[in-house]
Amino acid sequence: MELAKSGPPSLSRLEIKTLHEALPYLSYQPGGTPDTKKAPGLCIYERPVTEFWNGERPLLLYFPERAVDNYRHLRDAFARYFQVRIHCALKCCYMPAVLRALRGAGAAAEVISELEWGIARSVGFRPSHIVSNGVVRTSPYRMALVSTPGVLIGVDGQEELEKIEWCARRVGRRPDIMIRVNPLPPGEYFSERSKLGVDASEAHRLIEYSLRSPHLELVGVHGHQLVHCADVDEFARFARGIGELAAASRRSNQTGIRLIDLGGGLESRFMLEREGKSVRDFAAAAHDALAGLPGPCQLILEPGRFLFADAAVVLTKVLGTRRRAQVDWLVTDVASNLLRPISDRSFPPVPLRMDPHADWQSCHVVDSLCSPTRFWLDAHLPTSAATDGLALLNCGAYTLAHASAWATDLPDIGYMENGRVQLVFNQHQQAELLHSLYGINLLPYRGTPTV
Ligand SMILES: *Cc1c(COP(=O)(O)O)cnc(C)c1O
Repeated sequence: MELAKSGPPSLSRLEIKTLHEALPYLSYQPGGTPDTKKAPGLCIYERPVTEFWNGERPLLLYFPERAVDNYRHLRDAFARYFQVRIHCALKCCYMPAVLRALRGAGAAAEVISELEWGIARSVGFRPSHIVSNGVVRTSPYRMALVSTPGVLIGVDGQEELEKIEWCARRVGRRPDIMIRVNPLPPGEYFSERSKLGVDASEAHRLIEYSLRSPHLELVGVHGHQLVHCADVDEFARFARGIGELAAASRRSNQTGIRLIDLGGGLESRFMLEREGKSVRDFAAAAHDALAGLPGPCQLILEPGRFLFADAAVVLTKVLGTRRRAQVDWLVTDVASNLLRPISDRSFPPVPLRMDPHADWQSCHVVDSLCSPTRFWLDAHLPTSAATDGLALLNCGAYTLAHASAWATDLPDIGYMENGRVQLVFNQHQQAELLHSLYGINLLPYRGTPTV
């Protein structure tokens, strides 16, 4: 009997064997020389994992190339119908190597705080390629945004709108702004108790106010309401709601709104494609939903999970197993201080070696911490996975950015570029992290005691 009550279906044995069809950077290839042929091992960008990972510490490994591929795939799908710009949601992933690769490929950035504004600038995003969102801002941050030509400022509420207007008057320049709205009634993706976004009638008022203000340049309507969205119809309803608001503002002002920002919220590319869906379906649905708009419109998308989730994996050994309720539980070295599960099945496990003689079983993959977290329930894995170790997939979104320094070491962290692994965080930096946070020096108490 399956234990999981939430999350996607488990990868089948066939899906794992043909993983490269879904994630082309992963494949199982026979190792050794032709006469010492070994069981196929997992390769990443054609490099056997055993060549660059010794298993001593778990490794979170990012693939800038895959993030760029996801970016291009999304852009091309929407560019068929729209003049579109893709702003990657920084809060999903702060890895400079990944962000720089995306920027180099033409992506723009979406930030939600002064910290992220700083990160975006420091990895080279120009202000004209940055959208700043937020419920309210600190005064210095608001002033910095209003003073910086090019940046697009998202506004979520009357009070923040007036504060931005006040800054604009002070500074003597008209900032580009957009109003955030929740165009859908409360439902699966949005609760009445959310602090985010204003309803359509409030949005109308804010739009009228902005259009009348001599200090503000209203350029767009913004919505971000979906999460893990794999539902094309829901996406279309959402786009239609935003489009209706933009159309109404155009009627009341000829130069009105030309830009529509549909936010983020798409499911990861890997998970979408597993379901047989493509972002081309979402692009076509947005096209239909916005077809009634008078005149051309520019589109912004702010994907996070879609770009980053399948652009990293974790390699981990299995520390031990336990048997409960007639099922094996594999306990990984990587822990939930890095990987925060959002359902009963968040990070699909695959074996590091495809032992042809091993039986396959249903098992659960969990961490060793005294917290109720589980990475994946009811996984299908060869029994040899307990000794060979695992790769956990889809680890690139909201993992490192939400990681915390508690309970156990963070893993080694790096990225792979041109087939080479560059580490940015290791055991030494882990010790420095603890030292700078707490002034604690753990070094004398680590590892094998010397006699
Ligand atoms: C978090 C966030 C995103 C990205 O969301 P995903 O679900 O990761 O695509 C985009 N826009 C805004 C305003 C956000 O807060």
